[in-house]
Amino acid sequence: MPDRPVVTRIAPSPTGSMHIGTARTALFNWLYARHTGGKFLLRVEDTDRERSTEAAVQVIFDGLSWLGLEADEPAVFQFARADLHRAAVDELLARGKAYRDYMSSEELEAERALARAEGRVVRSPWRDRSPNDAPDRPFAVRLKCPQEGETMIDDQVKGEVRFQNKDLDDLILLRSDGNPTYNLAVVVDDHDMGVTHVIRGDDHLNNAARQTLIYQALGWEVPVWAHLPLIHGPDGTKLSKRHGAQAVSEFDDMGYLPEAMRNYLAKLGWGHGDDEIFSDEQAIAWFDIRDVVGAPARLDWAKLNHLNNHY
Ligand code: GLU
Repeated sequence: MPDRPVVTRIAPSPTGSMHIGTARTALFNWLYARHTGGKFLLRVEDTDRERSTEAAVQVIFDGLSWLGLEADEPAVFQFARADLHRAAVDELLARGKAYRDYMSSEELEAERALARAEGRVVRSPWRDRSPNDAPDRPFAVRLKCPQEGETMIDDQVKGEVRFQNKDLDDLILLRSDGNPTYNLAVVVDDHDMGVTHVIRGDDHLNNAARQTLIYQALGWEVPVWAHLPLIHGPDGTKLSKRHGAQAVSEFDDMGYLPEAMRNYLAKLGWGHGDDEIFSDEQAIAWFDIRDVVGAPARLDWAKLNHLNNHY
């Protein structure tokens, strides 16, 4: 556990609406930061230039503000930090922890087919080839991952999750167009922002293994991981437009109060005994990320309505 004040964050991509899954992730990060006297930060992951829109950024700001979950510092925008991400790649190259991969798209396709047939992950010949033999064409940069042993994620919600390194390919850090990849940008930004606890959806659990390898290659302290199970609809299936996938702001139009939403979202995957209704102060005092349950939470409109009537 990092020996520093706690810093949490949410890192939404402004590519669509902000739904209750993101809202709950924000709330847990906010509660944990408040509980520990730390900081809660916001990073807008706007690297997908085609899909990221100003309007979607505004939806995130409005959603957080309506929920009363303001970040403790001005928002950080990821795209503007590409130079910092590239500098980390240069450092990894200089240290021999990454390599330039000159495989053409045809060669990569052929290697993919071979890897599939042999039941292994893709391996670039450039991992062991001298850069002096490099052809004059664009290259991607890959991390030189260990090929033996395992990478263990000691997750606050999931427990110990182990990945066999032979199943992890040398992940791409920089694409051949010079753009940093998601995994690289997240590690560099979290490190730079002093993030101590990464609390996010469990769809990122595999990325945690890859990100751990990047942290290790850079010699940086790995943050504490906490991957939250998804929120499902009332029938146990994926959230749909009618059930929870609507934007947080729509809950305002539907007549829900932010304090009722906070109370309700806190109970999606966490709780304090049988307590149904609790104040922010109580939630802050009681919240611990280690008490989040590992099973998916279900949206329950009757409970939400009941809480809303109380406030
Ligand atoms: N931008 C990612 C997403 O919206 C989150 C990344 C993270 O929390 O590490 O899914």
